[in-house]
Amino acid sequence: EQLTSGDAIALENKYGAHNYHPLPVVLTRGKGVHVWDVEGKKYYDFLSAYSAVNQGHCHPKIVNAMTEQAQELTLTSRAFYNDKLGQYEKFACELFGFDKLLPMNTGAEAVETALKIARKWAYEVKGIDQNKAEIVVCENNFHGRTTTIISFSNDATARENFGPYTKGFIKIEYDNIEALEDVLKNNSNIAGFLVEPIQGEAGVYVPSEVYLAKAKALCEQYNVLFIADEVQTGIARTGRLLATCGNCSCKNKMCSGTPDVKPDVLILGKALSGGAYPVSAVLANDSIMNVIRPGNHGSTFGGNPVAAAVAIAALKVIQEENLAENAHKLGKLFREELNKYIENSSLVKLVRGKGLLNAIVINDDEKSNKAWDICLALRDNGLLAKPTHGNIIRFAPPLVMTEDQLLDCVSIIVSTLKEFEK
Ligand code: PMP
Repeated sequence: EQLTSGDAIALENKYGAHNYHPLPVVLTRGKGVHVWDVEGKKYYDFLSAYSAVNQGHCHPKIVNAMTEQAQELTLTSRAFYNDKLGQYEKFACELFGFDKLLPMNTGAEAVETALKIARKWAYEVKGIDQNKAEIVVCENNFHGRTTTIISFSNDATARENFGPYTKGFIKIEYDNIEALEDVLKNNSNIAGFLVEPIQGEAGVYVPSEVYLAKAKALCEQYNVLFIADEVQTGIARTGRLLATCGNCSCKNKMCSGTPDVKPDVLILGKALSGGAYPVSAVLANDSIMNVIRPGNHGSTFGGNPVAAAVAIAALKVIQEENLAENAHKLGKLFREELNKYIENSSLVKLVRGKGLLNAIVINDDEKSNKAWDICLALRDNGLLAKPTHGNIIRFAPPLVMTEDQLLDCVSIIVSTLKEFEK
């Protein structure tokens, strides 16, 4: 049955829990950088499912890998081996430069997995007293919505009335290297430092150029695991295969000239499948990952053959289509073009970001929620984006965009913003 937008929204609102506040648009089809609503209106997707659809909607190579595998075998659980998982693990380990991969399904699950690995490593390798391990996290982080992860969130809406909270987290200011040094110096029970290379949900907050490299050096000095949550920043989004790219073997020329910040524990999700299927992963070297032994951790669906086939295809598309380079080039152009407009704008304060993970900050109080009204107008004008805050709009299109399409999008964005200039 083909519903109208109004009917589809009414149905979701009546039968679905109200755990989201979606922009009112009902999508039914996607191809590349475009999506279509049920009435047939075409839009540029400028969210990419929070940076999951980096390879574009319904990429034929990813869809083929998924459907072909789905006709052979979909799930065995990890009670048995399957013939695809090892191939995927090898491919990903070689690409990202790690010994081992632990497959999960969602970003939050992979974060939970990394936290468990770090704690077990702290007890079994570093020698911290049982149940004393602390993980250092950053203010305004976003790592997911499980009970443990919300325990160290700043987001009141995500956190309130969900206690009691999980212990063992110390929160410090993001992009403040002294704060990290201070906490590492004064606490001998620290297992790891969990950090987003760019804080996406916080409004695309980009730390200073040297922050991650200095943080990694401090972690080494104090024998603390540097845990990078690249669920949103990874897989070419920021113009490099990983935002922490350094030692990986992607041979991406965009990596040169940037500091080497190889994480001890790397968390991936979202675009690891091109958004086609829930696939997440934790990668680490043997000295860390070998603390995980049979029975310690797992998931019925994690590492299933469809997920494995999809992930290989999704990573190959990133390489074959040079999507990191494209994200770097188009991201630069996007910020340059928007800056031309912002120079004379009283509405928009600034544009910030890296590669094709960007945001604009509106010159208004967060509470006015002008960003929402702008996103509704963008929708009317054929472009879908979503505010991270009442005064911040994130722009994260699929990385398969062409230069002409990007310039077309810039003109939609600029003309829409002009409607809101006083
Ligand atoms: N970590 C980061 C940095 C994220 O941006 C997100 C999702 N926005 C997550 C973790 C959680 O991923 P998921 O929604 O797949 O659980």
